[in-house]
Amino acid sequence: MKINTAEFVVSNSDASLCPKELLPEYAFIGRSNVGKSSLINMLTNRNSLAKTSGRPGKTQLINHFKINANWFLVDLPGYGYARVSKSTKEVFQKFITDYFERREQLVCAFVLIDIRHEAQKIDLEFMAYLGEAQVPFCIIFTKADKISRGKIDAHVNAYRKKMTEGDWEEMPQYFVTSSTEATGRDAVLGYIETLNQG
Ligand code: GDP
Repeated sequence: MKINTAEFVVSNSDASLCPKELLPEYAFIGRSNVGKSSLINMLTNRNSLAKTSGRPGKTQLINHFKINANWFLVDLPGYGYARVSKSTKEVFQKFITDYFERREQLVCAFVLIDIRHEAQKIDLEFMAYLGEAQVPFCIIFTKADKISRGKIDAHVNAYRKKMTEGDWEEMPQYFVTSSTEATGRDAVLGYIETLNQG
């Protein structure tokens, strides 16, 4: 998919105030610092559409961007920095769960996972939540340039093992990306294009 236009539409912390316009929507979410802003900028070919930030957890907003005038890319707040994290409900704040439970035009959520690390409880909990809420999702492994090429499959397979030992029969569709090297861009955008056409 060629990105012709990418424009910021609105930010808010209330799912009911998200754009009314009925366009297919794709949400990006992950732990703070996973590389979400860098990925969004890489996908859209814009240097600073999403604000990369050295202050993890500070951007607590749902940001809507309209792409090519026919779909929304949604930048959701990073999770995992809640000061009090006693329960999943507190970690995944209500306006985020409201978003997933109410946003009918959401086609697919992309859950970002840093490819370097072992599976983290909070990500697995979040995907379990998406499963319960029946939200279709994919995994995007980020920062692939930070491990050697030969180790990528081993890391992905370790992640698959963790998921299939837990709540899942299989790992969902996944993508391996690097924002610094623009790896995985065509695959992610091609997938969105296919879903948009379907
Ligand atoms: P966010 O908090 O999830 O939005 O993460 P950012 O996009 O702000 O990135 C967090 C840090 O990881 C920044 O220092 C980025 O430069 C770095 N980073 C993000 N993506 C990549 C990547 O693909 N490769 C490398 N080497 N660094 C990355």
